Amino acid sequence: MLSVDKKKCFYCGTCVAVCPQAAIELLDTCEVAIDEGCVEYVCRKWNCRLCVKSCPVRAIYEV
Ligand code: SF4
Ligand code: SF4
Repeated sequence: MLSVDKKKCFYCGTCVAVCPQAAIELLDTCEVAIDEGCVEYVCRKWNCRLCVKSCPVRAIYEV
């Protein structure tokens, strides 16, 4: 499962832009939401992790 460290995330949108599945959203509450369905099936199957690699402050991590 992927999670976002809210203390590190500065809401830049890079992870949203790189996700090939459009599985990441910036919410109005200044939070990043990752679609759990995508994480369970697509992210694992492809071992994508583009969001993890592209975050400039390493705010997305595996839990
Ligand atoms: S790339 Fe990182 S800092 Fe930028 S919105 Fe995504 S989680 Fe936050
Ligand atoms: S691992 Fe890939 S498909 Fe899954 S949320 Fe991150 S960028 Fe999107």
